[in-house]
Amino acid sequence: MSLIVHKYGGTSMGSTERIRNVAKRVAKWARAGHQMVVVPSAMSGETNRLLGLAKELAPERTDTSYDRELDMLAATGEQASSALLAIALQAEGMHAVSYAGWQVPIRTNSAFTKARIESIDDKRVRADLDAGRVVIITGFQGVDDESNVTTLGRGGSDTSAVAVAAALKAKECLIYTDVDGVYTTDPRVVPEARRLQTVSFEEMLEMASLGSKVLQIRSVEFAGKYKVPLRVLSSFTEWNIDIHEEAKSGTLITFEEDEQMEQAVVSGIAFNRDEAKISVVGVPDKPGIAYQILGAVAEANIEVDMIIQNISKGGLTDFSFTVHRNDFARATELLKSKVLPALGATEVIGDTKICKVSIVGIGMRSHVGIASKMFRSLSEEGINIQMISTSEIKTSVVIDEKYMELAVRALHKAFELEQSAA
Ligand code: ADP
Ligand code: ASP
Ligand code: MG
Repeated sequence: MSLIVHKYGGTSMGSTERIRNVAKRVAKWARAGHQMVVVPSAMSGETNRLLGLAKELAPERTDTSYDRELDMLAATGEQASSALLAIALQAEGMHAVSYAGWQVPIRTNSAFTKARIESIDDKRVRADLDAGRVVIITGFQGVDDESNVTTLGRGGSDTSAVAVAAALKAKECLIYTDVDGVYTTDPRVVPEARRLQTVSFEEMLEMASLGSKVLQIRSVEFAGKYKVPLRVLSSFTEWNIDIHEEAKSGTLITFEEDEQMEQAVVSGIAFNRDEAKISVVGVPDKPGIAYQILGAVAEANIEVDMIIQNISKGGLTDFSFTVHRNDFARATELLKSKVLPALGATEVIGDTKICKVSIVGIGMRSHVGIASKMFRSLSEEGINIQMISTSEIKTSVVIDEKYMELAVRALHKAFELEQSAA
């Protein structure tokens, strides 16, 4: 008998019929002798709907007391789907109980809308499991030291599931979603994308951080830290398929590099439309500019991603960087009002119509010429590269948003990702 954690995403929980299907699948696993903990997301569209209502009432607000209420609001989505799943499981003749984050409790810090899990108390859950119950724990949410409800950031149910699996030392955490695994790139953008049977933890971490929304990055970090066996698979197969077959399906995140030796140099392509570019133009080129510009941005708690400083002409230079689109207005305003006058720069220009496209692969460590192949293939499509950044196992470029799909398709082809690895 093993303890298994299942996580079901929004589409998988999208209607009462789908919830019934999830219940049947979970019941199958429980009847096969496993202790089952299930972490559901809110029904698809529900989190957006709730946050949209708040935006109608207060379009411009960004303060902490507003964020607190957003978490109070958004957390109800997962509470509803968890209770519905418990009811569906009971209808299948199972003993099932659902808990909100604060009832477990799942303790987090107080960073509303992007809280981090600090600890999970396993007593109550273990007692239920020992009494033969299926335990359902709301994804996406926790509680801080002052008993405020918190949420973990969009897509956070993945992280809840992996954290619960780590706390309970589960044998495996299965992430059920609307695709049947992790692909070489988003199969919605490139239909020829190929499912990976395994992907190394490091590659998955890069892909998630570079925009592949199939797993929230923190869930991959947790899996790495606590060595939680993690698999991504489809919730849309028949619920009654053979359990051994199901347990081997999808994509396994592996922690051993050896298994990757046979694989392609580039394993996947990620893209991200969530960033915006800001350029400070006509900055006097002297020591300390980067600090003056980025120091002010950092003080406002705004995260910067890619950075580029151009060669100076006549003692003046341009300095560009990217931030999350949500922080774009605040960052531009801050630079215009405080930094521009202090630096004596000419102007601040913003561009929200950009995207970042990245190639990822641990094989890049031992192969040269991969980045140049990427640049050549983009130039053959007439796509201009605005910014570049590299690390050991990835190369990212910023391009005009309107070329995103073209770029992803061209790179997918150039690196022969549609064909299976040798
Ligand atoms: P869930 O609601 O189950 O959490 P998400 O929408 O968060 O599902 O994540 C699944 C989606 O991730 C897929 O429908 C797919 O469009 C997208 N996706 C992006 N990159 C990849 C990739 N490399 N492999 C598989 N899916 C990907
Ligand atoms: N419901 C939350 C969201 O839409 C969390 C999740 O689905 O993982 O972001
Ligand atoms: Mg998700």
